[in-house]
Amino acid sequence: MDSSWQATEDWARRLDGEDPLARFREDFHRPAGTIYMDGNSLGLLSHSAEKAVLAALAGWRDKAIGGWLEADPPWFTLGEDLGRLQAALVGARPGEVVVTGSTTVNLHNLLGSFYRPSDQRRRILADELDFPSDIYAMRGHLALRGLDPEGDLMLVRSRDGRTITEEDVVDAITDEVALVVLPSVFYRSGQLLDLPLLTRAAHERGALIGFDLSHSVGVVPHNLSDWDVDFAFWCNYKYLNGGPGCTASLYVNQRHHGTPPGLAGWWGYKKDRQFDMSLEWEGAGDAGAWQIGTIPVLATAAVAGALRVTLEAGMEAIRAKSLRLTEYLIFLADELLSDAPDGFSVGTPRKPARRGGHVALEHPEAVRIVKALCSRGVVPDFRPPDVIRLAPVPLYCTFEDVWQTVRHLQEIVERRDYKHYPPGRGTIA
Ligand SMILES: *Cc1c(COP(=O)(O)O)cnc(C)c1O
Repeated sequence: MDSSWQATEDWARRLDGEDPLARFREDFHRPAGTIYMDGNSLGLLSHSAEKAVLAALAGWRDKAIGGWLEADPPWFTLGEDLGRLQAALVGARPGEVVVTGSTTVNLHNLLGSFYRPSDQRRRILADELDFPSDIYAMRGHLALRGLDPEGDLMLVRSRDGRTITEEDVVDAITDEVALVVLPSVFYRSGQLLDLPLLTRAAHERGALIGFDLSHSVGVVPHNLSDWDVDFAFWCNYKYLNGGPGCTASLYVNQRHHGTPPGLAGWWGYKKDRQFDMSLEWEGAGDAGAWQIGTIPVLATAAVAGALRVTLEAGMEAIRAKSLRLTEYLIFLADELLSDAPDGFSVGTPRKPARRGGHVALEHPEAVRIVKALCSRGVVPDFRPPDVIRLAPVPLYCTFEDVWQTVRHLQEIVERRDYKHYPPGRGTIA
C-alpha cells in the first residue's frame, strides 16, 4: 500500500479523480440513495444489459420463431458466441467456454464427465469453506454412484476458520483422490487461491481439477488454458452483472473435448446437425457439447449486454482498481474501526495476490450492524456467523463510496446504533 494514503474524505475524492475507470459508473443504474457494496451477490443493471434484454424481447415480438437465426444476435448460437467472448475474459481458447445452464447444474454436468472413480482412486477432494451448493452436488454424485457421500468426499480443513492453506490441499491429494474441486475465491473471507499451483499439484499427483469461479470472474483475471485447468464453471450475475438467475458458464480444457457430457442433451449436439433429430449422439467438438437443452434467451440476453461493459473496461484495469479499492477499505478499517467497541477484524488476506474482490469485516454484532448500515442506505451483506461482506465493485463503486461506508460503520459502533435493531438474520442474509 501507498504510505501516503489518508483516512479523509478529501483523499478518497482524490483517488476517484485519478481513477481511469471512473466513467463506467454512469453505465449503470444505481438504486437511488444507496451505496451499493453487494455486487458480489448481485451485480447492478447496466444500460447495455437493459438494451440487450429489450432487443431480445423485440426479436421475439417481431420475428417469433425466426429469431433463432435472424435475431440480432441470433439465439441458436448464443451460448457459443457468448462463450467465445467470455473465453477472452478467463484466458481460455475459443471453443473452451460456453454460456449455458446454471452454476450448480453445470457442476453436476461436469462431475458427470470428470469424476471417474476407480477402485483405487475413488475420492473427491473439496474444502470445508466451500459454497454449500457445490458440496451438495458432490455428495449427490457420490450417492448416485453407490459411493459414500460422507467418507468419499474429503474436505480440507481451515486452520483459522477463514482461509485454506494451499499446502494443506496439496498434502491431501493422495493416490485415493480422483478429482479436486475448489473455489477460486472463497465466498466468505474473499481469499483467492493459487489456481496454477493447485492445478500443477493435482496433475503431478494424478488427479483432475476443476474450479468454481463464481466469486472471481469479472474481478480477477484468469489464464485457465495456460494453467491447464481441466474444467471450470461460474455464475454470471455477480461481478459480471448478468442479472438475477441469468445463464451461467462453463469451461472445458480442449484436451477433454470429445469426452461425453455427464448430462447429455440435444443442445450439445453438433450445431449444424442438431435438427437432423437423430437418436444417435454426435456431440459438438468443443465445450458446446456440455449444453443440455434450449438456451434461456431472455436470461442470456442481459449477460451479453453486460459483458460488453466488462470487456471494454478490460480485466487488467478492473483488477488494478479492485485491489486499490479493497486496499483502501482495509486501510480505513485499520485506521477508523480497529479501536471500535468489540473491534472489527479484517477476515480477508492482506496480501493483494491472495485477495478477490470483496472484504470481510468480522464483528460479533455483524447481523445488527448490517441492518443499521442498510437503514443508512449502504447495502452490504451478512454471512454467518459474524461476517459483513463489502464488495466495492470497480465498474460502479468509488473510493468515496468506500469512505462513506467505513464512516457509517464507525458511527454505528461508536454510537451503538446497532442496538436499535433486533438480532437474527433475514431470509436472504
Ligand atoms: C454464487 C455462487 C454459486 C451460485 O450457484 P447457483 O447455482 O447460481 O445458485 C455457486 N458457487 C459459488 C462459489 C458462488 O459464489
